[in-house]
Amino acid sequence: MADYKNTLNLPQTDFPMKANLPKREPEILALWQQQSIYSQLRKQNKQAKKFVLHDGPPYANGQIHIGHTLNKVLKDIVLKSKSLAGFDTPYVPGWDCHGLPIELNVEKALEKEKRRVAPEEFRALCRQYANSQMQLQRDAFQRLGVLGDWQQPYLTMDYSFEADVIRTLAKIIANGHLHRGSKPVHWCVQCCSALAEAEVEYQDKSSPSIYIRFAASNPKLWLSHFGTPDITTESVAILVWTTTPWTLPANQAVAFNSSIEYALVRCSWQQTTEYLVIAKDLVPQVVQQCGITEHTIVATAVGKTFEHLLLRHPYLDKEVPVLLGEHVTLEAGTGAVHTAPAHGQDDYTVATHYNLAVVNPVDDQGLFMPDTPLFAGEHVYKVHTHILEVLQQQNTLLHAETISHSYPHCWRHKTPLIFRATPQWFISMDKNNLRAQTLAAIEQVKWSPSWAQARMTAMIEQRPDWCISRQRVWGTPMTLLVHRQTDTLHPNMVALMESIALLIEKHGIDAWHNLDIASLLGEEASEYRKVTDSLDVWFDSGATHAAVLLRREELQWPADMYLEGSDQFRGWFQSSLLTGVAVYGHAPYQHVLSHGFTLDMQARKMSKSLGNVLAPDKIWDSLGADILRLWVASSDYKNEQTISDEILQRIADAYRRLRNTARFLLANLFDFDPQQHCIATSELLELDYWVVKRTFDLQQDIKQSYEDYDFHGVSQKIQHFCSFDLGSFYLDIIKDRQYTTMTDSHARRSAQTAMYHVICALTCWLAPLISFTAEEIWQHMPWREQPSIFFTTWYDDFGVLEKNTLLASNFWPVVMQVRDQVNRELEVARNAGLIGSGLAAEVHLYCSEALLNLLRPIAEELRFILITSAATLHPLSTTDTEAVTTQMEELQLKITASVHEKCQRCWHRRAKVGKDALHPGLCERCVENISGLGEIRQYA
Ligand SMILES: [Zn+2]
Ligand SMILES: [Zn+2]
Repeated sequence: MADYKNTLNLPQTDFPMKANLPKREPEILALWQQQSIYSQLRKQNKQAKKFVLHDGPPYANGQIHIGHTLNKVLKDIVLKSKSLAGFDTPYVPGWDCHGLPIELNVEKALEKEKRRVAPEEFRALCRQYANSQMQLQRDAFQRLGVLGDWQQPYLTMDYSFEADVIRTLAKIIANGHLHRGSKPVHWCVQCCSALAEAEVEYQDKSSPSIYIRFAASNPKLWLSHFGTPDITTESVAILVWTTTPWTLPANQAVAFNSSIEYALVRCSWQQTTEYLVIAKDLVPQVVQQCGITEHTIVATAVGKTFEHLLLRHPYLDKEVPVLLGEHVTLEAGTGAVHTAPAHGQDDYTVATHYNLAVVNPVDDQGLFMPDTPLFAGEHVYKVHTHILEVLQQQNTLLHAETISHSYPHCWRHKTPLIFRATPQWFISMDKNNLRAQTLAAIEQVKWSPSWAQARMTAMIEQRPDWCISRQRVWGTPMTLLVHRQTDTLHPNMVALMESIALLIEKHGIDAWHNLDIASLLGEEASEYRKVTDSLDVWFDSGATHAAVLLRREELQWPADMYLEGSDQFRGWFQSSLLTGVAVYGHAPYQHVLSHGFTLDMQARKMSKSLGNVLAPDKIWDSLGADILRLWVASSDYKNEQTISDEILQRIADAYRRLRNTARFLLANLFDFDPQQHCIATSELLELDYWVVKRTFDLQQDIKQSYEDYDFHGVSQKIQHFCSFDLGSFYLDIIKDRQYTTMTDSHARRSAQTAMYHVICALTCWLAPLISFTAEEIWQHMPWREQPSIFFTTWYDDFGVLEKNTLLASNFWPVVMQVRDQVNRELEVARNAGLIGSGLAAEVHLYCSEALLNLLRPIAEELRFILITSAATLHPLSTTDTEAVTTQMEELQLKITASVHEKCQRCWHRRAKVGKDALHPGLCERCVENISGLGEIRQYA
C-alpha cells in the first residue's frame, strides 16, 4: 500500500499542547523584564490619550492572599484592555507603610531579642520591616503577570510622600476644616489609641443590662408636671436602662425625647409602692422585664414638659438635669437615656448643645483616674460587679440581667472598644461645609455597581467628624505647633508647615522629631510646643492622589478610576474623597468601581482559623498564574466570588480548550505567510468568509464588554466562540480541506487566511485575561511585528467585509442546525453498530421546499460540511419509509453505511476508489490533488 502521508498538509507546530505554566510563566516574565515592556510602552504611547487607574495601596505586611490577587488582576485586565484600545495606561503601584500592625511586628521581634530601643531606631526598624514586606508582595504581584512600574512604586513612607501628606494637612488647615476637640472616639485600651472607623469591627458581646432609678430631686414638682399634685409620695424616680454601667461615673444628665409621651406609673414592688417615669409605649415590656407584678398608669405628659428638671445621680451626691434629644427613641430601654458625654457620640452632641462640660474619668489604659470617687484605679472592663454593688446599696438598682448584643471591637485585638473623650484633632464635616461639598462631589463621580453611589452618599451623610490624630510612633507626624497656654495653633501654621515639609522631604519624619522649634520660631519658641500625635494611616493613604497623581509626570489628577474591594467605601474611597474635596473641592477620581469578596464553596470568608485559605503562590506553583487570572476573569467580581480546588480544576479545563484552539490555529498556519498568501476577504470561500465576519462581529461585542468592565462576559464569549463556533463547527469542517487539498490551492489558502484573522484577533482578546499564554501564542506567530503582544492594539485588519453571495442571510445558522440533526442520527447509527466514523456513512436529507432551496447551492459540498462520505438532498415529499423525523419539522434523515472503498488518503468512501490505475487506493478528488489539478470550491 502506498504511503500518502507526505502528500497531506498535516499541521505542524512547536507550540506545546501541555501548558506547563509553572515553568513557562517565569520564562515569559523574564522576557518581559528583559524587553522592559512597561517603560517601552510608556515611550511608545506618549502621545496617546491617558487612562489612569490609581492603585490603592495594600498594607505592607504579610504574604498576599486571594483578595489581593483578585484586586490586582482586575486592575491589570482593565489597564491591558485600555492599552489595546489605544490608551496610554501608566500604572504606579503603591504600598501603605505606616501604622500599628508594623509597629507590633517590630515590637515582637525586639521582645524576642529582649531589646529596647530609642524611638528613632524603632522607626528605622519599622521602615526596614515595611520595606521587606513590600518586596515580598511586589514579587508576588509581578508573578501574577501584573504590568506596572514595579521599579518605582510609591510608598507612603517615602520622604517625599510624607512631606506631601503634611502639605495636604496644611491645605486642609488653610481651608478651615481642622479643629481640636475633646470628643468621644472609639478607643482601644490595648492599642492605647483612638481607632479609625475602618478599624472597628462588630462582634457579639455579653454585657450587663440594668435598670436604674434616677430619683426626682423634687418629687412634688414632677407630680405637678404630670398634673397629679394630689399624690403624696416621696418616691418618684425616672427609670433608666443601660448596658454600660462603667459609664455611670461619667453620667452628667438624663435625656428625654421632647415629643414622646411619658407615663407616671404606680408600681407595687415587694410590699412597697413607688412611682416610676417610663415612656408610655415601653411600659408593658419594661414592667415585664423588671418583674413588676402590679402597675397602673396614673398620668402621662410629653417629654418637653420635663426639660431642666433635676434628678439625683444614682450613687453620687450630685444632681443631673433632664435634657431633650432627638436621639432618644422607643426602640429599646425606657425612653429616658443615661447621658455620659465623654462616652457616647449622641450624648456628646446633646451635652454640647446644653453647654455641659465633657468630663472623662477614664485614662488611656481604661483605668478610672485617681480622682474618681469609689472606683479610682479600677479597670472599666472589670468594674461592673463593684458598680452594681454600690447601686444596690443605694437602692437605685431595680433590675439586672446579662444580654448578648453586637458591640464594637478592635480589629486587631478583637477586644471590646470603649467610647472615650480625649483631646484629638478632627477634620470637621460641617464647620466649613465639608459634608455638603462632599455630597455634591459624589454626584460628579461615576459609581459602579449601581448601589455604590447610594452607599457612599449614606456614609457621608451619617459620618461623624474624622478624627485624624493617633498616639503612635510609626506614622507621619502631625507637624503642628500649639500655644502652651491656649492650645491654639500658631497663627502662621500653614506657612510653617511648608518649611517642615521641606525638611521632611530631605531627611524623613525624624527631621520633625529632632526639630528644635527655635530654628523655626526664634524667640517665640518658648511659648509653643510640638504636637506629638501622628496621623491616622487612612489620612496617609487618603492623600495618595496629592502625593502621587499630582506629582508623577506620567499620571493625572483626577484619576480615571479607583478600583478596590467594597470594604473601601468606608476606607480608601472615602478618605480619598474627603481629602480631595477638603483640599481641591473635587473627588480625586472620575469613576469608582468596586468588587466583592472571595468566599469558599460553603460561602464562608477565607480565614486561617477555618483552614479554607487557598494561597495564591500554591496555585501558581501548581496550576499557573494564568489559571488564577482566568478564574478572576470568569468570576462575577461585582458580587462575592467563590474559589476552591474544584472550581480551579474547572477553570483549568476551560483553559485547556482555549489553549488547544490556539494551538490548532497555529499548527495549520505553519506554511502561511500573510504577505504572500492572504486572500482578499471578498474572495474567501463562503464558510471562511462567515468565520471572519463572525470574528469581526464578536470583536465588537468583546470590545464593548471590556469597555463595560464586564470581564465575566468577555471570557464567556471567548469560550463559547472557541468551543462552538470554532471547535465543533468551523475547525472541524475545514480539517479535510486543510489536509487534503493542494498546498497552494485557493481552497486551502482561503481557510488559512480566515484562521490567520481569527488567531490575530483571538490573541488580543485573551491578552488582558491570560497574559502569559497570549504572549506565548504571540511568540509563535512568525509574522508578528512587535516584540510583545502588549505593544499592539485590537486587531482590525479584517479587510473589506462585503461579499457577493448566493446564500440566504440565515444560511449558516440553518446549516448549523441541520448539522446538529445529522450528528444526532450518526450517533444513533454508531451506537447501533451500523457505522464507525461519520466518513463510513452516507446521509440522505429529505427537505421541505424552503430548506431544499436554501441548501441546493452547496449540494456538491454538503458532505464536507457534514463530514460524511456522501450527502444527498431529496424533497420531503419523496416517500422513504426508512427516513426518520428530526427536531426540525422541515427535515427527515436517513443514514446508510457506505458500500464503497475507503480512500487511503482522505478516508472518504467514494465509488471511484480503485478506478485509477496509477493510484488504485485513492478517490478521484485525491488523484486530482496529488497530480496538481486540484479542485475548485466555493462554499466549504
Ligand atoms: Zn487594639
Ligand atoms: Zn481521497
